[in-house]
Amino acid sequence: MTEKAAHVTNLDPWLDAYAARAETLSVSEVRALFSVVSRPEVVSLAGGMPNVSALPNDVLQRSYEGMMAKRGALAMQYGGGQGDLTFRDQIRELMALEGIHSSVEDIVITTGSQHGLDLLGGLFLDAGDVVLAEGPSYVGALGIFRHYEAHVEHVYTDENGMSPEALEESIAALKRQGRKIKFLYLVPNFANPSGVTLSAERRPQIIEICKREHILILEDNPYGLLYFNEPVPNALRSMDENVVYLGSFSKILVPGFRVGYVLAPPAIRDKLVLANESAILCPTSFGQMMISEYLSTADWKGQIDTFRGVYRERKDAALSAMQEFLPKLETTRPDGGFYLWVTLPEGIDSKAMLPLAVKELVAYTPGTAFFGDGSGQKYLRICYSYPTPENIRVGIKRLATVINLQAELLETFTGKRS
Ligand code: PMP
Repeated sequence: MTEKAAHVTNLDPWLDAYAARAETLSVSEVRALFSVVSRPEVVSLAGGMPNVSALPNDVLQRSYEGMMAKRGALAMQYGGGQGDLTFRDQIRELMALEGIHSSVEDIVITTGSQHGLDLLGGLFLDAGDVVLAEGPSYVGALGIFRHYEAHVEHVYTDENGMSPEALEESIAALKRQGRKIKFLYLVPNFANPSGVTLSAERRPQIIEICKREHILILEDNPYGLLYFNEPVPNALRSMDENVVYLGSFSKILVPGFRVGYVLAPPAIRDKLVLANESAILCPTSFGQMMISEYLSTADWKGQIDTFRGVYRERKDAALSAMQEFLPKLETTRPDGGFYLWVTLPEGIDSKAMLPLAVKELVAYTPGTAFFGDGSGQKYLRICYSYPTPENIRVGIKRLATVINLQAELLETFTGKRS
């Protein structure tokens, strides 16, 4: 038996049968952690889980009963590939909160915004195409772009979001190399993983550059309504109808329904509906009808206010624990959303340090998950959305023990204080 044949027999009898693209499917660093960090003694500052316990059960119970009484038969049936019309109209109102004026015709319901991203990846990306993205960028989007064999070019991003100057420079450099740029992918509000928000000043500048260069913008906005004090600047889509906008109910309601949506210009929308039908026939009728009933009968704006309070309290706990236990480390100070982005002392590798942190009963996500080329060792993401404020403090205290030990070891071996 040849070496390969033995390998095929022992491990996976279908190894020779997979498409080449199956190679791009690797366990994400975030998901690989889930089995370890779900142990109760570990404080997980890793996975970006919404705090669903802040939504009282009886609210959804009432929505369920109302929905079943009014539209139960429809909820159990297949629906159209674009999604329910009444529901799409309610989404129009939701998007109006961020300055977006849209038509129900241009909204497509998806299985979470993750599915919207996948459909868009399938529509636009050929192997070798370039996607421009913030540096760092959302790990789930990077996985999709990798699956379609695209190359992600990260554009310099600071506390005001992506830099328009850096964007222009990246585009010019890629054009000189003859590379094909397919779109710019942005999370403009309380970005995952950095927590930063693209400033009001930079938004029209980025739109202007992309218009001039004929580059499509994908605006992914699951966190925009979860601001702590001030609402976010208007959506990029509100300034340019050619922007493709992705929204989701995962963070402003619950992820369990798996409902998201895409607002796209007519030509792209038509293709998205066809791609949706081809992939899943139709989005979940049950989930759409449940959320539709919830939006028409429950105090959903009050519920978003409750979520804001829950996340604000946890962000404050995280920042004050950082100040108490790791005062020298640089961290972003988000105005909403779930995440802090922390820069480690020189020489510490967040990926290599993770097993030590888990041993110390705390987990985080290494910065390397958020760069297409696996760089980002000197950063880590803290997600404060899920643990209690007390546990966030405990988790960051444990993290400080691990980081300080690493820094001391580095000092001993290199003679340098970081
Ligand atoms: N985009 C971003 C930036 C996210 O953080 C997430 C979830 N973590 C998603 C998209 C996907 O969310 P969902 O599919 O639940 O709508």
